[in-house]
Amino acid sequence: MTEAGLVLKAGREKSVRQRHPWIFSGAIDRIVGGPGRGDTVDVLSQGGSWLAKAGYSPESQIRARIWTWDRDHAIDESFFEAALREADSFRRPLEAYTDGYRLVNAENDGLPGLVIDRYGGYFTVQFLSAPAEKHKPAVTNILSRFEKTQGIFERSDADVRSKEGLPPATGVLWGSEPPQTVNIREGNWKFIVDLRQGHKTGFYLDQRDNRMLVRDLVSQFARGGEILNVFSYTGAFAVAAYSGGAGRVINVDSSPAMLSIASGQLALNGMPAGKDSILEGNAFEVLRQLRDEKRLFDLVILDPPKFAVNQKDIRRASRAYKDINWLAMRILRKNGILLTFSCSGLVSEDLFQKIVFSAAIDAGRDAQIIGRCGQPSDHPVRLTFPEGRYLKGLVCRVP
Ligand code: SAH
Repeated sequence: MTEAGLVLKAGREKSVRQRHPWIFSGAIDRIVGGPGRGDTVDVLSQGGSWLAKAGYSPESQIRARIWTWDRDHAIDESFFEAALREADSFRRPLEAYTDGYRLVNAENDGLPGLVIDRYGGYFTVQFLSAPAEKHKPAVTNILSRFEKTQGIFERSDADVRSKEGLPPATGVLWGSEPPQTVNIREGNWKFIVDLRQGHKTGFYLDQRDNRMLVRDLVSQFARGGEILNVFSYTGAFAVAAYSGGAGRVINVDSSPAMLSIASGQLALNGMPAGKDSILEGNAFEVLRQLRDEKRLFDLVILDPPKFAVNQKDIRRASRAYKDINWLAMRILRKNGILLTFSCSGLVSEDLFQKIVFSAAIDAGRDAQIIGRCGQPSDHPVRLTFPEGRYLKGLVCRVP
């Protein structure tokens, strides 16, 4: 039993009872016992009923995140050990296919604020909330005892840390320093991961199922064809497209460092990696230029960064999504395929579809949806936590 507690306002216990893990500052009537940053507190209803144990974040709008609804659970190393073992056994079957996957997907695996990715013998960890930060030593201990762990590397450099009053933190937590790049396997593919400087924790693990989709789409609809991979990062979709029988893939990205990994990654997989496979620049301008040059493609992939970070960005983000989708539709051959993504959690699937619809109308093209995509199994979405869904995509055939 913890000492400090947080008493909710009348009627605000409903979401806690429905197992939503977040308690916003506005739902709290009072805080008792003076908890410190990251401490575990009991969550009580206005009437005094015990509801849950949560981690306290004094500086965040999300003032507390629930660890457990079970009064008997102590929030200590054994709690994290059980949760990590559970997450690990759920991912085990994936290992036949890949040694790069998300081991813990935060709230969706019952561990708010904690993200752990595995790249071969290395774990990269993000402690994204004050309570998760507090349990860093326990999490590090547990991971160090996992079979095959060579090193544990912290990548707590995401912006959300600042909302918790935490500075960015990166570096080795345990074991050996990871090499400059780590190779992971995914089926027959090999991918190069820069887990120190790469985006997120180094690689877009969340696009795993959609890499298979790209391979299959190319083999069905674009064999020998020309593919434009916009926002390519290190070109993982290009590897998939060549596997499906693409004639030529052009990768577009604004980051020269990531494009240089893309060249190495294509070569590593025995695929064409010449200079003509890369266009460095701002995707919006590159797409306009390709349209002006009247270039045409059989498949265009759009996988932009998160355009909407806050509620107030949604309008601007919607315009940006519309812009690139409109341009993409203009450079598709007859019956070409558009694979278009949004990873902004704040842009709902419904809104995204409306944006793509209006892009098609403005481009004068009458598209059909032939597929929908989301997150792979190692990025589960808890039913009680719909916020966990962020990645969505549409496959459109554009006659
Ligand atoms: N499709 C990739 C992931 C894309 S992440 C994969 O499957 O691995 C988004 C990418 O967009 C990043 O590599 C980033 O460098 C790039 N990017 C962001 N803004 C851009 C812009 N305006 N023009 C071109 N690339 C951009």
